[in-house]
Amino acid sequence: MCVLERARMLLHGSSDIVSFSGAGLSAESGLDTFRDAEGVWARYDPAVYASVKGFERDPDGVSEWYQQRRRSYAGARPNPAHVALAGRPMRHVTQNIDTLLELAGADDVIHLHGAIDRDRCHGGCGHLEAVDPANPPGLRPCPICGAAMRPDVVWFGELLPETEWSAALRAIAGADVLLVIGTSAEVWPAAGLIHTASDAGIPIVVVNVEPGTAQGIATYELVGQAGEIVPALLR
Ligand code: NAD
Repeated sequence: MCVLERARMLLHGSSDIVSFSGAGLSAESGLDTFRDAEGVWARYDPAVYASVKGFERDPDGVSEWYQQRRRSYAGARPNPAHVALAGRPMRHVTQNIDTLLELAGADDVIHLHGAIDRDRCHGGCGHLEAVDPANPPGLRPCPICGAAMRPDVVWFGELLPETEWSAALRAIAGADVLLVIGTSAEVWPAAGLIHTASDAGIPIVVVNVEPGTAQGIATYELVGQAGEIVPALLR
């Protein structure tokens, strides 16, 4: 039996699959990954565009950059991997700030790194606002406390949102398989969830165009495009 078939049988017999995804899940929807040679951070400096210091140094410039990114996300549509994942009852833990899993119909998605369709108060008063990525607002003050509004995404050096992190840990603790899709597993602490699952003896199925991304702890590793492999795994 080939690896794909063995992994498919494992998933078929599982009652509590948890998916853990990264930018590669949405690459075939036209969204850039971050760490690849053509990725976002090869073209833009994360210290400028994805850090608290960068935002406080140039709030207008960072807001304008996010306005452009939001417009590019607004045109993206779920690819066959999102559709296959949403079509099977499971919980999703994602590092992605896009909402393509939800657009595909998934209703249990934990966003570890925030979401592109929300702004929050940078002053920390807790005010949140929904944002239409097709018509993103520019820099503006928080209507509650007057501090600047910023994208509700996790920047370099920031802590993960506590509620989402706890929910992710609970999801993994109850999983009988972890399906890891399109992540370089280089961004911590999110990548640590794969090790948490491994330490708990939970089988891990990895889908990635590059081999070796799960640092040798994958039970089954499928090398190829998520849009082809994930539907085949979950059929
Ligand atoms: P990453 O850029 O570090 O890694 C992407 C991974 O996806 C790589 O291992 C690559 O080999 C793989 N990949 C690329 N195309 C693929 C495909 N078609 N099928 C399967 N695998 C594919 O991304 P990451 O691990 O998610 O971590 C980067 C951070 O960037 C995260 O914090 C995330 O919040 C953020 N991010 C989000 C989005 C998004 O929301 N769509 C996009 C880029 C980055």
